Amino acid sequence: MLKHPVNIIIRGWRCGNYPILTAIYIFAAMASTSNEDLFKNIISHSREYGFIFQSSEIYDGLSAVYDYGQNGVELKKNIRDYWWKSMVQLHENIVGIDAAIFMHPTTWKASGHVDAFNDPLVDNKDSRKRYRADVLIEDHVAKMEAKIQKEVEKARTRFGDAFNEHQFRATHVRVLEIQQKIDAINQRFKTALETGNLEEVRKIILDLEIACPVSGTRNWTEVRQFNLMFSTQMGSVSEDASTIYLRPETAQGIFVNFLNVQKTGRMKIPFGIAQTGKAFRNEIVARQFIFRMREFEQMEMQYFVKPGTEMEWYHTWKETRMNWHRSLGFPEGKHRFHDHLKLAHYANAACDIEFEFPFGFKELEGIHSRTDFDLGNHEKFSGKKLQYFDPDLNQGYIPYVVETSIGLDRMFLAVLSQSYHEEKLEDGSERVVLRIPSFLAPVKCAVLPLVKKDGLPEKAREIMDRIKFDHLCMYEEKDSIGKRYRRQDAIGTPFCITIDHETLQDNSVTIRYRDTMLQERIPVTQVEEILMEKVDMATPLRQLT
Ligand code: ATP
Repeated sequence: MLKHPVNIIIRGWRCGNYPILTAIYIFAAMASTSNEDLFKNIISHSREYGFIFQSSEIYDGLSAVYDYGQNGVELKKNIRDYWWKSMVQLHENIVGIDAAIFMHPTTWKASGHVDAFNDPLVDNKDSRKRYRADVLIEDHVAKMEAKIQKEVEKARTRFGDAFNEHQFRATHVRVLEIQQKIDAINQRFKTALETGNLEEVRKIILDLEIACPVSGTRNWTEVRQFNLMFSTQMGSVSEDASTIYLRPETAQGIFVNFLNVQKTGRMKIPFGIAQTGKAFRNEIVARQFIFRMREFEQMEMQYFVKPGTEMEWYHTWKETRMNWHRSLGFPEGKHRFHDHLKLAHYANAACDIEFEFPFGFKELEGIHSRTDFDLGNHEKFSGKKLQYFDPDLNQGYIPYVVETSIGLDRMFLAVLSQSYHEEKLEDGSERVVLRIPSFLAPVKCAVLPLVKKDGLPEKAREIMDRIKFDHLCMYEEKDSIGKRYRRQDAIGTPFCITIDHETLQDNSVTIRYRDTMLQERIPVTQVEEILMEKVDMATPLRQLT
């Protein structure tokens, strides 16, 4: 176990002076747990502390469907709010809508989803496990990339400050060899997908000697396409019923409302429409907890631009979105761009923002230049004009669209997995702490009377009743103060306010900080000020502008 001193705690919630004096060190328990175990711990922690439950758990659950508990719902709401404010509140030319989940079935013909929203699936005949063929190949490539990264890190250690990574990648024989192999696989895979040659996709899997992680064999079935949309019937009498789909993305609700919003909101291009809401996909392989669900929530923004300017806006939104992710203060190197090899049927440029989850770098958000594909097709299928009249050009056109699309649940998992820390303290005890950015934390402050008597609960209630109008706070009087602190650490509460006998005399309280465990004596009148300063969403939002 690697140990290193993290910071200094100032002890002494009983002490009347501020600041308080005794300092001790705590140690963080680092990476003794493997990533797989860590991920398992995160999943069980999130269940134990009311963040996420398996759907219909009492019936043994429903695969890849999850419910958010009392703390999860708050964290999810705060992430959603942060996204919404950064889009709608900070941009005068972006407005929001909330479209229905059900849409006219022709919507999905026009969007291409009925014909092309497929994933290539393949089964291993021995384990009978089903996989996405593209994911098997991508994971194989990722392993090769990891080998290159290992070489890079080795050289960096050897050469120190003199190390030039760019030069190293361009000249090192082994790195070049691996890179050439990667490029060849990518090119072959891209061509196979573009030409719809599924036999070739299977051959790639065989040629790369990819084995089933469960059976260890390479006994693969042929590769088949599988449509991911859920369908149901609308209409009370079966003869009248028509097949409708649960939307697989929220974007189409925005496209079909494009002109309604533009006209009623008197929007001028460029402008954006934002939306958050549920989407449904019958995923072939739904593992990795809330990373890949069959019912999930998206936060999407479609930005309507003049044709020919879309690449400029595509790059602007790439940067804007990356800044949003970085504003959470996670360590450098946790995010990266990944350009798409194979573009979706509607796109002329696309990339993902990937995040390093405990199971590796994976897509967190997609940024796509969707051309005029969607609006053009809706015009064709509906027979209604969906054109914007540009007053500057004195002519109408179908705008081009740049889209940013992020899964709220994936973002939740990114925050949760990054915040989760198992720590060993100097006194030998351990704690699990969620270092969630304060403005996203489910509970902002816990109000804790030291004992359940002597008028302390009444005083604590008085404080609680003042701050609850601005922040979600929790009042707790059961168990020792130490146990209560640990419980708050485990749900990521950034501040605890402790009320003791001195509070009754001089109106001072102890404030304890989650991350440092630092405790300070402050006048009760300062509580609101501190909370306002530390948990206000406006602070990170200001950094974005
Ligand atoms: P993937 O390649 O992981 O299947 P995608 O490229 O199909 O994702 P998009 O259609 O671009 O995803 O959807 C936008 C965002 O919606 C994704 O970046 C992701 O955050 C989220 N998302 C997509 N599918 C799921 C899912 N099954 N469960 C949770 N979130 C999802």
